[in-house]
Amino acid sequence: MPGPTSAAVDEILGELRAQGGRITSGRRAVVEILLASGDQHMNAERLVEAVRARLPDVAESTIYRTLTALEELGVVTHVHLGHGPASFHLNDLSHRHLVCRECGVVIDLPFGAFRDFAEAVELQYGFRLQDEHFAFSGLCRGCAELLPAEADGPAP
Ligand SMILES: [Zn+2]
Ligand SMILES: [Zn+2]
Ligand SMILES: [Zn+2]
Repeated sequence: MPGPTSAAVDEILGELRAQGGRITSGRRAVVEILLASGDQHMNAERLVEAVRARLPDVAESTIYRTLTALEELGVVTHVHLGHGPASFHLNDLSHRHLVCRECGVVIDLPFGAFRDFAEAVELQYGFRLQDEHFAFSGLCRGCAELLPAEADGPAP
């Protein structure tokens, strides 16, 4: 997908190259798909499928190693939205997540949404909250309306 994102793709590939990584077509595809996925919260498995839809011969290990290299560079981060595999994000899309335990909808919140809470926790407990690493689980508005009696209980 050439176009507005291709400069960003080249920049990221340049960083990989500067770290001594070889730029293969598989690596390029991983970066392009991650950039194009925007905020679809792709897990590694879906990413493998998407890369292979374009380049069927790319080894799964190449894709995983590329993700690891991108994470080490700080270009990509992952978030745990639920019990399944982690989802990958470009670091500049960093935001916080709410996940509905009933319907699985993911709601993105701006970066500062939990700032007051994080500051209070650090002040009181000396603990630095990493609120970007996991999603907050709960009930979305629609599900809460359908399940009023259950709204306070834990998931079964
Ligand atoms: Zn829901
Ligand atoms: Zn998100
Ligand atoms: Zn993690």
